[in-house]
Amino acid sequence: RAGGNRIQVYSDELRVPVQQKIAAESRLRVALAGDMRDTLPVWFQPVVDTATGKIAGAEALVRMRTPGGEILSPFHFVGAAEETGLIVPLGEHVLRTAVEHLLQWSDRLGYVSVNVSPRQLAEPDFVPMVASVLAGLPGFDPSRLVLEITETALLSSAVDVGERLNALKELGVRIALDDFGTGYSSLTWLKSLPADIVKLDRSFVAGLAEDARKASIIEGVLWLARSLGMSTIAEGVEEKADWEALRAAGCPAVQGYFFSRPLPAPEFETLLLNSLER
Ligand code: C2E
Ligand code: CA
Ligand code: CA
Repeated sequence: RAGGNRIQVYSDELRVPVQQKIAAESRLRVALAGDMRDTLPVWFQPVVDTATGKIAGAEALVRMRTPGGEILSPFHFVGAAEETGLIVPLGEHVLRTAVEHLLQWSDRLGYVSVNVSPRQLAEPDFVPMVASVLAGLPGFDPSRLVLEITETALLSSAVDVGERLNALKELGVRIALDDFGTGYSSLTWLKSLPADIVKLDRSFVAGLAEDARKASIIEGVLWLARSLGMSTIAEGVEEKADWEALRAAGCPAVQGYFFSRPLPAPEFETLLLNSLER
């Protein structure tokens, strides 16, 4: 019916992802319409200071609680959130919740770090939204808020990412380059963007103690970051041997299952209290 001179292939397999996407989107709409503290809880994973072994900060990581009580990882809904633009209200919720918790834990936690997707960064309202959150917190040191940006943000050429990051820096917040090393333009990032922290992707970290190439790459990145006045956090530290290798290499901070998985806020609070007593 579509005319001659063509071959069209239909595959049942193609239908599945589409259905999953639609399901993810409708679940997300339901969650955003509900009590988000319940439906979209923000969990926290500690970032550990290598020198002291103490919790320096925490990364906020969103989860979804389904009406059936199941906890879903961002893998199941962040993609759909970005495609539909629902990442904008979701991201604002995560930012506000993360900062709220930081204030609660102020005497025990230095900073909180929040993921910002390329889509959010491209929104004209993003910088004003962050500014209004900060304006609502008189006396709050804005450098205690870290925004994590991935290299893919550079590819969305619709906005000048550098300009946007500069506007954020003017607010006093800090910028971290997330998943560093996995994108197309890691060195371009370092060359041109006003970042404070490099988050070395876990693919360079896992098994580092037994892999001389990974160790060399890490030493190189640590040196580069230091020379540029940036700090480094190694992500995905699962093994003691890897932590020891990172410490020996002078990596200032680490994050990973070896220390703690991301935890619901009450459990993270318990961890904070216990780590002080130690
Ligand atoms: P990410 O920003 O790279 O976050 C780190 C991910 O690695 C988290 O997965 C964390 O649980 C996991 N992880 C931490 N330590 C280890 C480890 O030792 N081993 C392994 N294998 N994994 C580790 P999670 O929480 O499932 O989040 C996945 C991704 O979803 C995040 O990757 C981030 O890109 C995105 N995401 C999470 N929360 C938000 C959010 O609030 N906003 C946006 N835009 N994206 C988010
Ligand atoms: Ca991150
Ligand atoms: Ca990461």
